[in-house]
Amino acid sequence: MMVTNQTPLTPDDKERFKRQIILPGWGEDGQKKVKQATIFIAGAGGLGSPVAIYLAAAGVGTVRICDCGEPELSNLNRQVVHSDKDLGKNKALSARETLAHINPHVTVEALSAKIVQENIADLVGDASIIVDCMDNFPTRHILNEYAFRNTLPFVHAGVFGMSGQLTFIHTPETPCLYCIFPGSPPPELFPIVGATAGVIGTLEVLETLKYLTGKGTLLKNRMLFWDGDQMHFHEITLQKDPHCSVCGK
Ligand SMILES: [Zn+2]
Repeated sequence: MMVTNQTPLTPDDKERFKRQIILPGWGEDGQKKVKQATIFIAGAGGLGSPVAIYLAAAGVGTVRICDCGEPELSNLNRQVVHSDKDLGKNKALSARETLAHINPHVTVEALSAKIVQENIADLVGDASIIVDCMDNFPTRHILNEYAFRNTLPFVHAGVFGMSGQLTFIHTPETPCLYCIFPGSPPPELFPIVGATAGVIGTLEVLETLKYLTGKGTLLKNRMLFWDGDQMHFHEITLQKDPHCSVCGK
């Protein structure tokens, strides 16, 4: 990613982001990279809510958020980027309104579309990273294949009840999502506590910001699992599938 003098930090930026700029390994250079970034957030639901809110609050230049749905009453226990007044609006548009209140300097591109093979290139556009905030594997596999073909980093996460999982995919350095989950479980009405999406969504944000700033070690080739019932984190090492139909030889 190029950092140019065309995107300097303003005095307002330096004040607003002071507490992260002073973080070792972040600095003003890191903040400029965050400011210059365009992030594609796939989904404005349970995961997309904390992801959009914390990326906007961190000073990402452009958030491109995509969702074809409308907030329903049963979404509001976890989809905190929307509130009662947004019922019936498009989720991407509703998210844009909330983010404008959090940080009016972030550009929010609200895309009201269902993600399919035919439109994904237009939707992702020039974004430098894709954040998976979906609730279904067929769409995740479309995102994964696009990320693989374009060598884009892809932050995968999933939640269920009071548990979740997370990994940072960036082929060819890591397996792709299809290596890890070659199938698609059937859709179901699964239980979810809002704070679960908060835990896992904010971890997706941290991985995204680490990628942009170069800080820390990314969750590559590792799947992190969180069990909220027992309050345990554990992780497994991931391996590429040499016969993977997406990234295999
Ligand atoms: Zn693969």
